[in-house]
Amino acid sequence: MKSFAVNRISAVACHATSRKEGEFKWREGAVPLGKPMSVFEVEEFRKYGHRMVDFIADYYRDIAEYPVRSQVQPGYLECQLPTAAPEDPESLDDVLADVQSKIIPGVTHWQSPSFFAFYPANFSTAGFLGDMLSGGLNVIGFSWISSPAATELEQIVLDWLGKLLQLPEEFLFSGGGGGVIQGTASEAVCVAMLAARKRAVAKLMAEGASETEAFGRLTGYVSDQTHVSVQKAAQIAGVAANLRVLPTNSSTNFSLSPAALRKAVAEDAANGFLPFFLCGTVGTTSSAAVDPLPELGDIALEYGMWFHVDAAFAGNACICPEVRHNLDGIEKVDSYSMNPHKWLLTNFDCSTLWLKDPRQLVAAMSTSPEYLRNKATDEKLVVDYKDWQLPLGRKFRSLKLWFTMRLYGASGLRKHIREHIRIAEHLESLVRTSDRFEMVAPRNFSLVCFRLKPLENDTDNGRTVNATLLEAINSRGACFLTHTVLDGVFTLRMAIGSSRTELQHVMEAWTIINTEADRLMKH
Ligand SMILES: *Cc1c(COP(=O)(O)O)cnc(C)c1O
Repeated sequence: MKSFAVNRISAVACHATSRKEGEFKWREGAVPLGKPMSVFEVEEFRKYGHRMVDFIADYYRDIAEYPVRSQVQPGYLECQLPTAAPEDPESLDDVLADVQSKIIPGVTHWQSPSFFAFYPANFSTAGFLGDMLSGGLNVIGFSWISSPAATELEQIVLDWLGKLLQLPEEFLFSGGGGGVIQGTASEAVCVAMLAARKRAVAKLMAEGASETEAFGRLTGYVSDQTHVSVQKAAQIAGVAANLRVLPTNSSTNFSLSPAALRKAVAEDAANGFLPFFLCGTVGTTSSAAVDPLPELGDIALEYGMWFHVDAAFAGNACICPEVRHNLDGIEKVDSYSMNPHKWLLTNFDCSTLWLKDPRQLVAAMSTSPEYLRNKATDEKLVVDYKDWQLPLGRKFRSLKLWFTMRLYGASGLRKHIREHIRIAEHLESLVRTSDRFEMVAPRNFSLVCFRLKPLENDTDNGRTVNATLLEAINSRGACFLTHTVLDGVFTLRMAIGSSRTELQHVMEAWTIINTEADRLMKH
């Protein structure tokens, strides 16, 4: 088994280093060899660009040699770098040498095929090339005129992807709705909630409420499994005080119960509140649970709530017809978001959001200062994506999604998803047939939630033994998994979806998990 000694030593060495000024001996001789790099000169860019691609290719070639979870201690970097920027230019060689010796040890390798933590952050050659082109063009496509291709390509690829997901026509530009690329699912839910708030506050004000009064009467609904970004959105929207967090448990496999929602909503409505926002999840962060969209959608409709669905990870899998049933009921939803950067081979960041009625979002977000006015906007001929998001500036992110869809095709993307689900099914069968591990929640998509069964005399229901096991596994460096707590049960999560993960990597991890469990049980 590999020991990853090099990286551990550099972390330890750092802590042994005094942090007094003037003792950074490693910088000696690091003067630039050639002439300083120009700001931009085409042939020089070509040379350095190739150099950088080579560096990254070597990184991917060697990635298995690094511990997946960085093993450094907090503050490891501060004591290895100077306290101020250099006055004189340095050379790229020196910078890259520092990247290799000082930065890489502090990197957790999300692109390692043995990365099973959190949810994955996919990458691919196609996604990288698209991202590189976006960086190269470096346009800021906030309005159509600021770079027409950036806006129009985004509209086209969002329709393409919406069709792969079999979203109802109303979510597509071709059907009167439309999609937008946000940086993250957090931003997607935040803007959806701001649109919902605008609509609800207008309704209460039309009935005579003051704006402050209206804010105080809005109630939102999530489950205790909903991603915390919805809580953050409610804080930003000023409605967090009345965000109802409904409990779930193992009896519904951690999905939101329509009966519990109906009861909470009815009570609030009877008490003079206006239920305005509901977030459902397809593939919760803890256990990939799926909320029952059709039933939740009916309640949202009945009370006039904005229904947002967050499918950050699992939504991607719905491009496969055999998985698509998880989106049944999507026609009752106002907005739907998922992250192709998690599982659809598109480099971070790329979070897609579709809306049935984008005009409601634009109503909440739009501004039109004189300095941004232009004919196309004034004549309402175009989409200005600045009105669909929090920031003004935005990257040309659709390029990487376009490259990915074109260079792999829908068939290539489905193959990627199916392979991971197949591997997860295999892991699930290993857990189920093992006598000392057990599943804590059903396997959904490619997430496996399991634990070491506690011994009979265990006093904390397996928490300590599983937490110890997890740390033992991760500190070896050969793979990385994380945990959650489900219904009070400390649970190991193995999310299978990293771009280069194959069955062999999961089998290696399973061996390590078993070896560490053996060791733990002997003590
Ligand atoms: C990962 C995840 C998020 C958060 O994603 P960001 O894009 O980082 O904001 C939100 N919801 C779910 C269900 C997730 O799994």
